[in-house]
Amino acid sequence: GGGGGRSRTRKGSNLRIKLKLTLEEIANGVEKKIKVNRLVQADGVTFKTCPACQGQGQVRKVVNTMLGQMVSASTCSSCGGSGQIIDKRPPGVDNSGLVSKEDVISVRVPAGVGDGMQLSMAGKGNEAPGGGVPGDLLIQIEEVEDKMLKRDGNNLIYDLHISFIDAALGTSVEVPSVSGKVRIKIDPGTQSGKILRLRGKGLRDLNGYGTGDQLVYINVWTPKRLTSEERSKLESLKQSPNFQPSPEAGEKGFFERMKEYFG
Ligand SMILES: [Zn+2]
Repeated sequence: GGGGGRSRTRKGSNLRIKLKLTLEEIANGVEKKIKVNRLVQADGVTFKTCPACQGQGQVRKVVNTMLGQMVSASTCSSCGGSGQIIDKRPPGVDNSGLVSKEDVISVRVPAGVGDGMQLSMAGKGNEAPGGGVPGDLLIQIEEVEDKMLKRDGNNLIYDLHISFIDAALGTSVEVPSVSGKVRIKIDPGTQSGKILRLRGKGLRDLNGYGTGDQLVYINVWTPKRLTSEERSKLESLKQSPNFQPSPEAGEKGFFERMKEYFG
């Protein structure tokens, strides 16, 4: 046992905060200014040498055992190992000489972070009692769910609804993306369930492994209500050969598409 009498450096406690980010902020990366309440060394605090350990930071105990006397050293519980205790402190200052202070910290959030991830900023946590190393600021990311775009890893999924007339005739539509609106072409004869892949319109990988895609799921909307005029127009087309389902050999069903995109 024993060891040197030097007091060990104390470390301040870590400070944990949550940070809400929108999908757009996650896609582009963002610099956030965050208000935090940190414990900092208070002004006007005076210290004196710890009487329990005489400033050693450790207390030694001599224990009688069958093998003779043994000396064991342990961290001084009065000063927590710093060798100093508070002599005088102003009101509002806790008994470690720290006071809560509002601080604005600038956090650089890289693109591609995800819900539940933790960013760590060394030395931005609470200061240490008696002047040691400050703790870390631990920032937990909370992703605000986007109304339009669903996230699947680095890919983004958008559900597009088009009328069956547009699906048959073809059209062009605007869809939202994290980099603004994108115009896409719907080919004539597009089937419901088709997935269009917008390459590179997803999220940048946090570790630099490229960029995800945006997948546009095409849902062909079937009218739920029809006027008698609309009904008779559709009925006049009912027997037309072009309106009979006839998937070609190359056309993939739902399970084939799922295998292709997620397999
Ligand atoms: Zn002590």
